Amino acid sequence: MNKIYLDYSATTPMDKRVAQAMLPYFCDKFGNASSIHNFGQTAMAGVDKAREQAAKFLNCEPDEIVFTSGATESNNLAITGVIKALLRQDFGGQASKQQRIKNPHIITSSIEHPAILEPCKKLEKEGVEVTYLPVKSNGVVDIEKFKKAIKKNTALVSVMHVNNEVGSIQPIREIGKTIKKINEKKLKDWKKLNPKERGEKPQPIYFHTDATQSVNYLNCDVRWNYVDMLSMSGHKIQGPKGVGVLYVKTDVPIEPLQLGGHQENGVRSGTYNVPAIVGIGKAIELIENRKAKKQGKKKAGAAKSVEANNLKIAKLRNMLVDGIIKNIPNVVLNTDRKNAVPSHANFSFLGVEGESILISLDLEGVAVSTGSACASGKLEASHVLLAMGIKQEIAHSSIRFSLGKYTTEAEIKKVIKILPPIIKKLRRMSPEL
Ligand code: PMP
Repeated sequence: MNKIYLDYSATTPMDKRVAQAMLPYFCDKFGNASSIHNFGQTAMAGVDKAREQAAKFLNCEPDEIVFTSGATESNNLAITGVIKALLRQDFGGQASKQQRIKNPHIITSSIEHPAILEPCKKLEKEGVEVTYLPVKSNGVVDIEKFKKAIKKNTALVSVMHVNNEVGSIQPIREIGKTIKKINEKKLKDWKKLNPKERGEKPQPIYFHTDATQSVNYLNCDVRWNYVDMLSMSGHKIQGPKGVGVLYVKTDVPIEPLQLGGHQENGVRSGTYNVPAIVGIGKAIELIENRKAKKQGKKKAGAAKSVEANNLKIAKLRNMLVDGIIKNIPNVVLNTDRKNAVPSHANFSFLGVEGESILISLDLEGVAVSTGSACASGKLEASHVLLAMGIKQEIAHSSIRFSLGKYTTEAEIKKVIKILPPIIKKLRRMSPEL
């Protein structure tokens, strides 16, 4: 049976060129990148190259890149690291010359990944104030509601770039611009004060985005998007698992979550996972290459431009959506295609549990995922779909199809063919219909 993989949002197959780039760093170039001798320096050269590849992609300085174990860690570090640093008395760098907000307020959205929501909830229990922004029915944060949520003590904003369940694109550039304006105004007002009385500079609001699901498709230039911190993950971009990046703009105060050997300027201790870091660098470079080709700077072996890749995937996704809508009654498309990346199609098949569809499709060799997660033995409807105002029972019948770089037309045609009888059969068995 030829297997069909439509779960790119969960993870992606590694590009063979990435695996090739990683290989020498397992056995030959095995040194500890922190060692001074030649073995160490050879390994460090691989880490340095990856740091430059990431910095080029994000349009930042190489020393603003922190390698982590994945986007979960990057997100935890961004949220908890910044808040802990702000709550502490003596954080270093330029930031120590700022007035400190004593009761920092966080703004995030209600559709974030648990790797943002959980650290926020933990900080809330410790007394930190958190606002969870609602989303519109298309899964997009309302920029006006965001503006209204900003308070005098707002210190950190974290809104994801693209939602992992429905693919909705968040207005992070507008959010970034709004924050920039507020920060500039704060500084301007402060400068107007009598220099003898005004004290230290006002503390700015810091802006973090979880870009885990956007890197393949959208512009992640941190300057263009006005972000101070950005999370990425290797395995969502045809790279290795267990490695990620956190971009941290110079002077953003951040307290490490783990202490030890002071790697990554003390922000993230732990022996460098050199093969994985080399791999994420290469995976990022392959996306960069697509951009370079689009801009006319042809590189040998460069893949298709980002735009062409997006169009190709959108065409296949639309084929899938149209095929499902045409051939299966009582379906709801939870992805608003006008405001989403080209990879996602989240559907509810009314009257059928998402889990049953997933299992039936898996038996036919098709891999998808559901909008529900089994938490402590209880099937919980997706918090994202519920935040979009979708009813519990409809959320329970959701399936996420996520396409990617290697999806083919033949695969989509096959899914359109095998899905209608599966839904028909499951509906016959369902007590509701
Ligand atoms: N954020 C988002 C939006 C994600 O989709 C994921 C992966 N499901 C993560 C964070 C966590 O990434 P990782 O697997 O690298 O820890």
